[in-house]
Amino acid sequence: MRYISTRGQAPAMAFHEAMLAGLASDGGLYVPETVPTLTEAEIRAMAGLPYEEIAFRVMMPFLGNSFTEEEFRTDIATAYGGFGHDARAPLKQLGPNHFLLELFHGPTLAFKDFAMQLIGQLFQRELTRRGSRVTIVGATSGDTGSAAIEAFRGIASVDVFILYPHGRVSEVQRRQMTTPTEDNVHALALHGHFDDCQARLKDMFNDHGFRDGVRLAGVNSINWARVLAQVVYYFSAATSLGAPDRKISFTVPTGNFGDIFAGYIARRMGLPIDTLVIATNQNDILHRCLTTGAYETDAVIPSISPSMDIQVSSNFERLLFDVYDRDGAAVAQLMDELKTKGGFTLSQGALTRLREGFASGRASEDETSATITRARDTMNELLCPHSAVGVHVAEQHIEPGVPMVTLATAHPAKFPAAVEAATGVHPPLPPRMETLYERPERLTEVPNDLGALQTLIRERIDP
Ligand SMILES: *Cc1c(COP(=O)(O)O)cnc(C)c1O
Repeated sequence: MRYISTRGQAPAMAFHEAMLAGLASDGGLYVPETVPTLTEAEIRAMAGLPYEEIAFRVMMPFLGNSFTEEEFRTDIATAYGGFGHDARAPLKQLGPNHFLLELFHGPTLAFKDFAMQLIGQLFQRELTRRGSRVTIVGATSGDTGSAAIEAFRGIASVDVFILYPHGRVSEVQRRQMTTPTEDNVHALALHGHFDDCQARLKDMFNDHGFRDGVRLAGVNSINWARVLAQVVYYFSAATSLGAPDRKISFTVPTGNFGDIFAGYIARRMGLPIDTLVIATNQNDILHRCLTTGAYETDAVIPSISPSMDIQVSSNFERLLFDVYDRDGAAVAQLMDELKTKGGFTLSQGALTRLREGFASGRASEDETSATITRARDTMNELLCPHSAVGVHVAEQHIEPGVPMVTLATAHPAKFPAAVEAATGVHPPLPPRMETLYERPERLTEVPNDLGALQTLIRERIDP
């Protein structure tokens, strides 16, 4: 099992190498050379199994010889052992034929824990084997940073630095980043916007002397291992609703296209997914692209579902690779147009294939709030604003006889302001997290300056 770049110019790699590399050396994203498939009987046999067992059966075929079966089972058990629900990803019924897949029972209350907790374990295993260390630096508008810190806290072979925009993340998100007490965790409050955090992160990766000197590694959402970990819950949900003997549809609140791309992989593995619905907020580049065929960037308009506020959707490149018949040169050309002209138009053939596999919809701010209110009043459900975008769009795509599953990507308590404004209810944190507001915080304010950041990181990792 080897991984190749979507731009066709980087060496093929094994799973563990692609995991540590993150981005390919030609700027592309790693994808499996071939997608392993499961038989109907193998899929049917998953119904009712523990989440960890399904995780093992779905992911192991992608690992090649990178980890042994025993190692992988151990890491899966550790990754999900700290979740606050025995089912890990429980399903709830919202209405006739409509289900909510709760992906917020991990330690930071958002779906990103499913991938991040696992890659924390896999990084540790691989780095220990090599006897080496890495410095993980990430930029976050909130959810990715808290999930990364939670996954790597106390992991001996890793220092983790997270840049977040000072004063611009929710209090829950900030406290999740600033309250871990381990020495290898560094929360950096940057004086600037999220875009500044991302730009400085990019600068660090482009400074090859610094990158190699501190052994920089990234765990952002383009890391293949993260996508893979998200494939599992499509299988657990679909089989508990009757797959493979009936088709199931999914609606996914989408930003960087990682979560929904995992659904696409599940379908290619043989899971009978009928429609995959992309749900966007007012930052709707993907919905516009499916509607018109033009992928055109626009300024980001901040929304009440901030984890979906994106200008470009980085994992979309992986899908482009497939709808362009795995032509790396064609993808490289599109990405070049994106960079130089701010957009590109899909070929008719590519657009047709895209529409065969996906539907899309958009929720305005008012529609999102109204959905939070209505879900509370008529479904007895407190939705986070991202999940509400999903529910709004899903309702327009429900078809008779095909169960619709909407992914609930975060816990309502992670975005209390929007939930309280729509319902009058302040969503409580789960009991295991109640002390979050009492724990002391530890953070370093940093200027929006590359040199200062590099000095600080060097000093921290080599005191
Ligand atoms: C990251 C995130 C999303 C978007 O997921 P992608 O994989 O980037 O499409 C949606 N909702 C929440 C709560 C998130 O944290």
